[in-house]
Amino acid sequence: MDYDPITKRPRDLRLPPMLEDYDASRRSFSWDQVERELAWLPGGGLNIAHECIDRHCQEGRGDKQAMIWVGKSGEEERYTFEQMRVETNKFANVLKSLGAKKGDRVFVFLDRLPEIYFVLLGILKAGCVAGPLFSAFGPDPVRDRLQDSGASVLVTAPELRKRIKDVLPECTDLKHTLIVNKDGRSSDPLAAGDISYEAEMAKASPDFAIEPTTRDDYSIMHYTSGTTGKPKGAVHRHNSVLHQYATGQWCLDLHEDDLYWCTADPGWVTGTSYGIIAPWSNGVTQLIYEGGFRATTWYDLIAKYKVTVWYTAPTAIRMMMKVGAEAAKKRDTSSLRFMCSVGEPLNPEGIFWGQEAFDLPFHDNWWQTETGGILVANYAGSEIKPGSMGRPIPGVEIGIIDDDCKPAPTGEEGDLAVRTGWPGMFQTYWNNEEMYQSKFKEGWYITGDRARMDEDGYVWFIGRSDDVINTAGHLVGPFEVESALLEHPAVAEAGVIGKPDPIAMEVVKAFVALVDGYEPTEKLRNELMRFARGKLAAGVAPREIDFIPSLPKTRSGKIMRRLLKARELGLDEGDTSTLEDD
Ligand code: ATP
Ligand code: MG
Repeated sequence: MDYDPITKRPRDLRLPPMLEDYDASRRSFSWDQVERELAWLPGGGLNIAHECIDRHCQEGRGDKQAMIWVGKSGEEERYTFEQMRVETNKFANVLKSLGAKKGDRVFVFLDRLPEIYFVLLGILKAGCVAGPLFSAFGPDPVRDRLQDSGASVLVTAPELRKRIKDVLPECTDLKHTLIVNKDGRSSDPLAAGDISYEAEMAKASPDFAIEPTTRDDYSIMHYTSGTTGKPKGAVHRHNSVLHQYATGQWCLDLHEDDLYWCTADPGWVTGTSYGIIAPWSNGVTQLIYEGGFRATTWYDLIAKYKVTVWYTAPTAIRMMMKVGAEAAKKRDTSSLRFMCSVGEPLNPEGIFWGQEAFDLPFHDNWWQTETGGILVANYAGSEIKPGSMGRPIPGVEIGIIDDDCKPAPTGEEGDLAVRTGWPGMFQTYWNNEEMYQSKFKEGWYITGDRARMDEDGYVWFIGRSDDVINTAGHLVGPFEVESALLEHPAVAEAGVIGKPDPIAMEVVKAFVALVDGYEPTEKLRNELMRFARGKLAAGVAPREIDFIPSLPKTRSGKIMRRLLKARELGLDEGDTSTLEDD
């Protein structure tokens, strides 16, 4: 690849076809272009696993590395696309031998092992619907999801199987439980009736004719993060690969010789859409790390494997900030050329910190479990406006609309909405078609987020509709207040809610976790109040600040403001199945 020596940017940036005249080219974009770049199945069908794996083997890239896997203790395994093809074929055969049929739900409750990728892609080859479950879940969320989806096969591991043993009998649709005993880690892996993954794979044929799925067949179902309420099972179809493939280039700037690392777990949608489908449909080599967050380990991985493109999340960035930029500067992270972030608002402080620690800014982008892929992004080649999520991708109309579905004037707040029919669009909430239908109005999908769009087409996140605060007639987004607080050196994390007030309707209340070494004193509280008043408009700065050791977050790292509020008001906490342990 040809790089600019100063900016470290490749000279042929994979930009969305739009930057010259953003508006004109965005509107005239046609997805046919992307359709032509995909391989498609013989006979015209579309299958994600074929696009991710088999096409590369057919087109002579079978020897290229697809996955470099690093285990918790630093052990390493490498797989080429050809090896992935064989493993995924074998698993598809295992499923067929167990009687799994097209459309059956097969759920996967596994750590980030190489096997999780063989299994998930094997499920898609067999035409079944894959349901990834985050491996830190306790028994209740696993039971709820297995029952709701009617999953007939579960793939898990000995320790995880033990964790959920009491609820498995309640999952009455489940016919088979397959156990992955990685490297024989467990000496007693199988309970009565369980099937050994290794034994079945050893018997399975390496040849498999991919089920002739169409673009409309269901592929993956993901439960949402549960930040605002009970998680919903968003169902996707094979067509979503168009979206993930194209945005892998436009928004992650993926190139053939990249070494890409997505820190999200396949239990969440980022970990499948951008931890499996986008990189592999583009034939890019991925680093996969089994372990969790530890800043110094992460920097060592970047240095050792020469990661070039890195996709992570604001919570991780804030945790790295807590550790300080020095730790990053001590390593050679110069291989990095593009860093991006999703999942929560990225505070401008995070962008500047990236610049300090890695010589590169983080590029924020926005999407949801329901959207299947990135819809708004800060692109490699365009200016970042810190605090903005960037601009809409081509071929998709993003609206900021009022209650009557009319476009809000430029710069004004409204509901963030998407014109229906984009390629990654979810098809239903499993078992909840009514809730699905309720999200659509006059040809728009209403995302539940509030935002505004500036004159250059950049979208600015205000907050989730549920979190927006109404104080004395002003609507205040928590993000603005949290970002202001984060600029203070003592603040590691901030979560802001509206607290009911007899006069102002609501007042702004902030919960703050401090950077190590700072004491939660009255003096600091007053200083933070003053600091926020200096940054924010009157009435927007917090009226109250409480210090807490850490903020309640989902297991995917999102601040659960609804829980801060319920606790503040002594109300029922609602569904906490995705709440992270302290
Ligand atoms: P639930 O729908 O169950 O309450 P959730 O909305 O957190 O959970 P996800 O689909 O994982 O579940 O998250 C999507 C949401 O995350 C978006 O609707 C938005 O509120 C937030 N989000 C994602 N990316 C960004 C971003 N770049 N900036 C601001 N918010 C973001
Ligand atoms: Mg949501």
